[in-house]
Amino acid sequence: MSKVQNDLKKHKALSVDLLNFYLAFKAKLLPLFPYNYLLFTSMQPINFSPEWKLKLQNRFINYVKIYSTSDPESESCPSTAQQWTIAKYIFQELQDLGLSNVELDANGYIYAVLPSNLEEDNEPTVGFISHYDTSPDFNGENVNPKIWENYSGEDLLLNESTGFTLSPKRFESLKQYVGQTLITTDGTTLLGADDKAGIAEIVTAAEYLLAHSEIKHGKIAIGFTPDEEIGRGAHKFDVKKFDAQWAYTMDGSEAGELEYENFNAAGAVVKIHGLSVHPGYAYGKMVNAALLASEFAALLPADQTPQTTRGFEGFFHLMEISADISEAKLQYIVRDHDSEKFEERKTLLTKLVSDFNEKHGPGTAEVEIKEQYRNMKQQFEGKMHIVDIAAQAMKDSGVEPKIKAIRGGTDGAQLSYMGLPCPNIFAGGMNFHGPYEYVAVETMVKAVKVIINIAQAKKAQ
Ligand SMILES: [Zn+2]
Repeated sequence: MSKVQNDLKKHKALSVDLLNFYLAFKAKLLPLFPYNYLLFTSMQPINFSPEWKLKLQNRFINYVKIYSTSDPESESCPSTAQQWTIAKYIFQELQDLGLSNVELDANGYIYAVLPSNLEEDNEPTVGFISHYDTSPDFNGENVNPKIWENYSGEDLLLNESTGFTLSPKRFESLKQYVGQTLITTDGTTLLGADDKAGIAEIVTAAEYLLAHSEIKHGKIAIGFTPDEEIGRGAHKFDVKKFDAQWAYTMDGSEAGELEYENFNAAGAVVKIHGLSVHPGYAYGKMVNAALLASEFAALLPADQTPQTTRGFEGFFHLMEISADISEAKLQYIVRDHDSEKFEERKTLLTKLVSDFNEKHGPGTAEVEIKEQYRNMKQQFEGKMHIVDIAAQAMKDSGVEPKIKAIRGGTDGAQLSYMGLPCPNIFAGGMNFHGPYEYVAVETMVKAVKVIINIAQAKKAQ
């Protein structure tokens, strides 16, 4: 072995040692230094004192006491007069806090700006959005919230006179909140954490940022909408005025929820035309549309219904049949996260109708398919940093991100297609739209921290 070869061997051995050291460092030591310190060197810690927690809690309590149920039957915007009460209340509050460009428009949409405090602002404007209406599915008037400090893990008797109880035996998720402060209903109304928790979090985060100028952030846009619960929250949202590169709806449930996928959705109406003849003279003549409707319904795959699918599995959902001898109508919704499979579902419906006509005669059946909404995921192609920033902000707030697909649609999906990419983040409320709804103040605190950490994350690419 020559000296050169020997040196080379030593050199290689050293390289291997270095590599091993690096791998050991990466595996054992690196986790001690959270990733965020490598990514966001200027992150300021958030000292969310008990006073701030109480401020958040009281703000939330004030909101939920204001009646703001929306109404799908109404054509106006907001759909109900009572929504103006909370809209004006929040509008005044945003003005009093000293936010800029505070506006309540003719449709009840609220806009505000938290100006950048950077010396040189090259950061994109990021927005936060929530809705102030509550679901018409359950009574939302005279909400009388109950506060349970240091939750014991036992049953909570919400109403002495009716005996209405919130129990971890029925709602297992309650167990994770032992020791925390829970806010519940009194069993006669919903709570409205959906989505007044989101509003309380956004407003409190803005107030905190105004009071802590050491936390540097770009321009933050704030938007609150009416009528989300009846599917119209995004309809009259002024994306141009909002003027953000992207936004987050604070409208999810459990801590960590982060969603940027929803269904592709269509509605389909199948009409079947029959021929009514006196039953006594019907031989060879009558075409019974009601019977044909049940035959058609059975043609769709039985294992592709809402009750037999989950996760990323799509479905055909028969919502309603109305039928007599001469006419039948089957109303479906068609759902799939995957846009190719979604197209295949629509093609299958069309094919089944044409096969049906081949069997029963031309013109027996017809189908009309209407697009409803699209999976917003397609709007995030090349823009995954929008999701990554939220996930990182959660980790920086001590929350493990749980990315999942929504089996439905959101206002964020509509906004994404209006040019404002808009993932959804948890707001903390549980058991939405009913008397068992509750929220842990600690989860709301986490959401506030996530908002602040998104605000102060370095986003310019
Ligand atoms: Zn909501």
